[in-house]
Amino acid sequence: MHTWALEAETKILNHGKFENSEKCTIEDVRCDLLQKADVELSKGQDEIIGKIKSYYEQGEGHVELVESFQQDFINSAKSLKTELLNSITNKLDAALSRRNGMMKFEGIKKTYMDTMEKKVLDLLKDCREKKSDMTDSMLDEAFEKMWQETVSTLSYTVLQPQDIMTRVLHSLRNNLQSKGNSMTESFDKVKDLQNQGHRKFVVHRSNLISKNWNAQKTKRVEEMSDNIINICWEFVKTKSESKDDYDDTYISEILKIIDKKLKTHEDLKLNEDFKLSLKLYICGFASREFQKIHNQFIQENNPRTALENFKHTYHSDFIGLYHEQDQCSKKADEFTRKCLKPALERYVTENLGMEMADKMVIGENSAIFRSRTTFQISVLKNLLDEFKFETYFCFIKSYETFVKDFIFDKIKKQFSAENRMIKLEEKLLNEGTNEMKQAIEEAEQDPKINDIKGFIKTICKKLENKLVFSKDDVDKISRLNDVNQKKFIECLKCYVNNMDTCLKESFQARDFQSKIDCLETKPQDLMFKRVWGCGKQCPFCKAPCEAGGEAHTKHFVSIHRPKGLGRYRFVNSKKLVTNICTSSVYSNTSFKCHDTNDHWRPYKEYSKIYPDWQIDPDPSTEASAYWKYVMAQFNQRFAEKYNAKSADIPSSWKDITKIQADESLK
Ligand SMILES: [Zn+2]
Ligand SMILES: [Zn+2]
Repeated sequence: MHTWALEAETKILNHGKFENSEKCTIEDVRCDLLQKADVELSKGQDEIIGKIKSYYEQGEGHVELVESFQQDFINSAKSLKTELLNSITNKLDAALSRRNGMMKFEGIKKTYMDTMEKKVLDLLKDCREKKSDMTDSMLDEAFEKMWQETVSTLSYTVLQPQDIMTRVLHSLRNNLQSKGNSMTESFDKVKDLQNQGHRKFVVHRSNLISKNWNAQKTKRVEEMSDNIINICWEFVKTKSESKDDYDDTYISEILKIIDKKLKTHEDLKLNEDFKLSLKLYICGFASREFQKIHNQFIQENNPRTALENFKHTYHSDFIGLYHEQDQCSKKADEFTRKCLKPALERYVTENLGMEMADKMVIGENSAIFRSRTTFQISVLKNLLDEFKFETYFCFIKSYETFVKDFIFDKIKKQFSAENRMIKLEEKLLNEGTNEMKQAIEEAEQDPKINDIKGFIKTICKKLENKLVFSKDDVDKISRLNDVNQKKFIECLKCYVNNMDTCLKESFQARDFQSKIDCLETKPQDLMFKRVWGCGKQCPFCKAPCEAGGEAHTKHFVSIHRPKGLGRYRFVNSKKLVTNICTSSVYSNTSFKCHDTNDHWRPYKEYSKIYPDWQIDPDPSTEASAYWKYVMAQFNQRFAEKYNAKSADIPSSWKDITKIQADESLK
């Protein structure tokens, strides 16, 4: 489905470049593609549901044990379809607005260039008709005169940059309104984003829900905010590296990221004013960067500027034509360097991340990445092998960052070995080059094509599902040529082979990190999505939720950890607690914390405080040998870090060996 989505996106990005787009609008194309996606995904969903049902009908194995999960499995399959369709819709919508942004200018640019081309050809005819030979300086002069005259006749469309800050502010208002009215009152005081998002974001106590927050909680809020801000900065940075115009989907994407992150930290019970101040901060710096992106785009795509950029090409083509120099080689070289090569490079980088992620679930890493459960086990096993307190501390405290680093490290190890990254790039390059060569062959055989312009257009059209071409560059090259088509094709084939070699050399020259930085779809992000789940941690012991799919109604952990690892301590003695959540919710004991407003609440009523969690009461289950071992070994150090007293470790825990801890993972 990834490949499918990428091809659909490419199709939209190429819409109307090499054919008349009046027959069907870009919106039609989008609708059509989305319908197809829906059909494909429904097929996949039905197939999975069919398999689940037939498994239960056959009644093999312990069907009765998993009976209660049947509906869960079916729901997961359904929510998977919805997730995929949403992500495809988002991708296509973004492509659509990028393409629309470009199309605004293309009409004007075409008129400018058509006029100029005619003038250049007229001038060429005039010059050739003159009896005496013209020197280069005479030609330059004639060209310059013609250029100035033509430019002065063109109607000059001034493109005014838009006020992006206001648009961002508007999107933020909509975002707040959709969440209810409580926030809009404070928001009304905000007139613009000018003063927002400078310096460092500071978590003020007055912003938080409660004045008696302890330092630890404040620190968690700070860490969360820094994390959100970083992710948004990364997003803005990626956008400013592309050459597209600013689009409102950018800011709505950012607001979505913030809302999603805030939702995973619901347990912090942050108030609306705090959320608003964080959003204002981020929208502040983002809107300034987006304004820069927009201004840059307007400047680069101003039809006048574009024409000026082409002046050099027109001029050298004109001189070349006058002297009847061979244009074949020059044109073929330009077409290869300016159109085919960037399109191929994009093809490789667009696909590389996905292919890398695909490779991570087969072969030697499949044992780790096969499922969320196997992933959890490998992470824990790695921690045990290394056995450093600081690593465990990070793992529990910054679970998400830890997991991301872990995944990245695995990917790096996998692809740095045996030149695997380069081999993969070469494989993709070969795919692209072969399609290109085939398109050239086919166009060569086509009797209807009788000039270079038609030839180039046909090639681009044949490749439009795979490669994105810059219309400006294709146009620039197709203009002003009465070159020999056969010779042009010969030269082109030769340049394509050269390009292939050059690109392969460039793969060798770059290092892993810089390649990964360039990828829009990063393998570590794809892997993370695969193994991460919902990311919620048990409110007591901090073990991560194991329920599948994004849409589960209750978070669930199969084996909880000693609660002290999640900072739980006895009130009077301050000693860390060793028992686990499942036995606590069975017992008649009580707990208090920030979420209960520091009032005692019976553990049995935990679901009134944490309605999203399902912790089944069970007096018999103990913590796994793994966590007993970790807690026994690092008891003192956890206590220090958590500002508590060390736990009374049951004596049997102290006898557990590392081997036993390791075995308990299986
Ligand atoms: Zn727990
Ligand atoms: Zn969950």
